[in-house]
Amino acid sequence: MINFQSVLITGGAGFMGSNFIRYLLKRYSLYIVNLDKLTYAGNLDNLKDIADNPRYVFVKGDIASQKSVEAIFKKYRPEIVINFAAESHVDRSILGPRAFIQTDVVGVLNLLEASRAHPIKRFIQVSTDEVYGEIKQGFFKEESPFCPRSPYSASKASGDHLVLAYFYTYGVPVTRIHSCNFYGQYQYPEKFIPLFITNLLEGKNAPLYGDGKQIREWIYTEDFCRALDLVLHKGKVGESYNIGTGYRVANKKLAGLIVTLVGVPNTKIVQVKDRPGHDRRYAIDASKIDTLGFKPQVSFQKGLELTVEWYKKNEWWWKKIKRRKDFREYYERQYGNL
Ligand code: NAD
Repeated sequence: MINFQSVLITGGAGFMGSNFIRYLLKRYSLYIVNLDKLTYAGNLDNLKDIADNPRYVFVKGDIASQKSVEAIFKKYRPEIVINFAAESHVDRSILGPRAFIQTDVVGVLNLLEASRAHPIKRFIQVSTDEVYGEIKQGFFKEESPFCPRSPYSASKASGDHLVLAYFYTYGVPVTRIHSCNFYGQYQYPEKFIPLFITNLLEGKNAPLYGDGKQIREWIYTEDFCRALDLVLHKGKVGESYNIGTGYRVANKKLAGLIVTLVGVPNTKIVQVKDRPGHDRRYAIDASKIDTLGFKPQVSFQKGLELTVEWYKKNEWWWKKIKRRKDFREYYERQYGNL
């Protein structure tokens, strides 16, 4: 167990970063600095309910700027750094990989350099199971080699390599996590589950890539926060932890589950051209994190029900995003007038 008072969270205005800040503030008497560039995916609406908390401060800044990162470390002297900040959408990485290298590689380098200059107690790199690449059968373990197949996963894998290199070379106390897909409240509506739910709630069709047989594993926000909390408090320095639930499902089946929960006919699911290089199956062996005491508490069915309910009740949040010009332009480029 490590003791600490101050945490720097990067990318805390995004989907999971904002959920984790809320989770930490509720459970611990910590001080949190949230450093976020507020890209199209960053949204201060995600943190509206905690914005005035005296133990929380928001700083707008770019992790790809060495100067900004250095200034934040100098001013706030964080004991813990948790790096959520990333360009995180595979489809956007196919349209333009450069921003991914800036944030997911150069940004990570800047955070590591600052952690070396201003010693910290722990650096947690939030990463993805996508770095391992696809696997037709069986499961990836933490020791499995990386074989990323999209610019997104390649950028995350590069950042992850740097993180471990800083442990071996400079002794920066790092821990990496490789998680399966997140879902739940405040997920930006370009991602599969919220895109489906919100399109269907708007009476529109919902796009399914290719034959829909791609298999993904899913973890609900609260379960992910619990897993990361365990890694933060009990995880070992220099180690990696896969975070998974064992809830694996083909995209087509998931589409059917969402359609049923929203209460619209199956004909609303429309097959669209597959994503280039679309990985067929991700599967991780997450038994190592069980040794820290992790057990998912929300079943996939329950998590999906809670998620659909949240999007039904929070139209103010997602309608604002979907009305934005940048969202409409991106959507049209991807799906035409679906
Ligand atoms: P997100 O896209 O919702 O949020 C990313 C946040 O990072 C945004 O607030 C954005 O403004 C911020 N950001 C981007 N570039 C930045 C920069 N240069 N400087 C500072 N802030 C910047 O992402 P998410 O879905 O919440 O994912 C969070 C992390 O978890 C990412 O590192 C992602 O790779 C990883 N991850 C995501 C999933 C998933 O299913 N979404 C699964 C496994 C791992």
